[in-house]
Amino acid sequence: MGQLLNTICQECLNEKNHVLGIGQSSLEISMNLLKGDLSWIEKQVSKSTFEKIKLLEKNNQKDKPPGLRGVSCDFYAKLFECKSCNTVEVHNDIVIRLDNDETFQVKWNCGECNGLLCIAEKPINEYACSECRSTLLKVIGEGVWD
Ligand SMILES: [Zn+2]
Ligand SMILES: [Zn+2]
Repeated sequence: MGQLLNTICQECLNEKNHVLGIGQSSLEISMNLLKGDLSWIEKQVSKSTFEKIKLLEKNNQKDKPPGLRGVSCDFYAKLFECKSCNTVEVHNDIVIRLDNDETFQVKWNCGECNGLLCIAEKPINEYACSECRSTLLKVIGEGVWD
């Protein structure tokens, strides 16, 4: 379930579709994670982040019978903003939880300046176009999907 947000830049006519929310596949992904299959996470995050998660998962497995992995993961596609570029990107907001109460939040970096992204707080039309940097973004479509 989630939200669709289509924007157009009135300067360069670049159109963007933002798909936000949580996908149909989320249940399947959660089941796989419970079984210790981290391949979905591996596809989402950078190599160094994945190494950190694998290490956490491994440390969490100490003294546990095989098969009990104790890893779960919440994720939700959200708009993230880069404060210096004033642009938004869609990323999965991923929080990994381990049985020992440790959590790990995946951090995202801006594709342009590599700065740390935060969850977007402004309406999307107040951000700049990622192509031409003008602030003439207009929402041309909004919807809900499930
Ligand atoms: Zn940036
Ligand atoms: Zn533009």
